[in-house]
Amino acid sequence: MVKEWVPGVVVLERGWLSSNNVVLRVPGPFGPFGPPSGAAAQVNAGLCADGHGEYHRQDREGGDVGGGGVCGLNGLAMVVDTGHVRHAAQTVELLQEVTKGFDLFAVVNTHLHSDHCGGNAAVAERFNAQVLIPPGDFEAARAWDEDRLSFKETGQCCQAFVPSARLMPGSRLPQPFDRWEVHAAPGHDPASIILFDPASRVVISADALWENGFGIVFPELQGQDAFAEVEASLDLIERLKPASVIPGHGAPFTDVASALTRARARLAHFRRDPRRHALHAAKALMVFRVMEAERMSLDELVQWAAVTPIFERIRRVAEGDGATLQESERELPVPTAATANPAADWVRPLIEELLRAGSLKKDPVAGTAVVLMAG
Ligand SMILES: [Zn+2]
Repeated sequence: MVKEWVPGVVVLERGWLSSNNVVLRVPGPFGPFGPPSGAAAQVNAGLCADGHGEYHRQDREGGDVGGGGVCGLNGLAMVVDTGHVRHAAQTVELLQEVTKGFDLFAVVNTHLHSDHCGGNAAVAERFNAQVLIPPGDFEAARAWDEDRLSFKETGQCCQAFVPSARLMPGSRLPQPFDRWEVHAAPGHDPASIILFDPASRVVISADALWENGFGIVFPELQGQDAFAEVEASLDLIERLKPASVIPGHGAPFTDVASALTRARARLAHFRRDPRRHALHAAKALMVFRVMEAERMSLDELVQWAAVTPIFERIRRVAEGDGATLQESERELPVPTAATANPAADWVRPLIEELLRAGSLKKDPVAGTAVVLMAG
């Protein structure tokens, strides 16, 4: 039995490697030509292969899409964020379960980090769904330009996908999901959006607000001021007066005021000394990398940090010269294993701290080599 957080909204809580997947559902039937507009624009031909005697959406080549696509008798569904590529098969399975009787016609991304859009390719293919993303990343994703997307910079994995359309802040999701407003919420990521439904007063907050804090403020690591944007996004959420928040990670929560207070305190802590934020970011990215790899040796993790461009930037901020980082210096050459990288020596004590704190642990059966797993 799938539990709805509020009617029409199912939250698949996934953890930290994968973001939550929020499934929006509107029950059918919509009649042979689908809902009034939006998705209906694509409903035009082809008898339903499920034997409903109704119509299914055509796929891009013009053939019937069978199990996927828009059927007059089914409801319609969208999913907000698809998790990490390592969990893509599991995400597809979960979505098949949750969308029984619904046609999953679109994926919406709050932002293009590897833990939020890694399942896009698999979900788009299985359900013949279109992919709607924030405008700020549209061109880069369309061209799959690794230099402009975050994956190379952060040393993370993501499967390429093709976005279909931009999700403009100030607009709403396509019908019949147009009760959901799209708001820009930069800070954690410059292009990030959040969603708000005034009827249920639910905010889908991505990594702008968690029950305890918010996501790494990536632009700050690249020498760009973004703490003010984090604050503006928290202000926005406060102004929306949500009854509940579905965060990108962790369970949905209703005590939004307390969550905002904690987030503001954390932001103030980082603002007083941005080096704290840099150290936090380095540790969080290393734990994420170990989760991504499931297990890796200590040396592999150090080596990964040494060749991952963001670590050299983080080190500079953490060592206090972040403020002097000039525009020209933000484009550092990508270090290779062969070139010495101070970040390698710099991360070893951080890994020790993570081990002491239990965020990483040593695999007890790995023998002599130190093999790390997420705690
Ligand atoms: Zn993120």
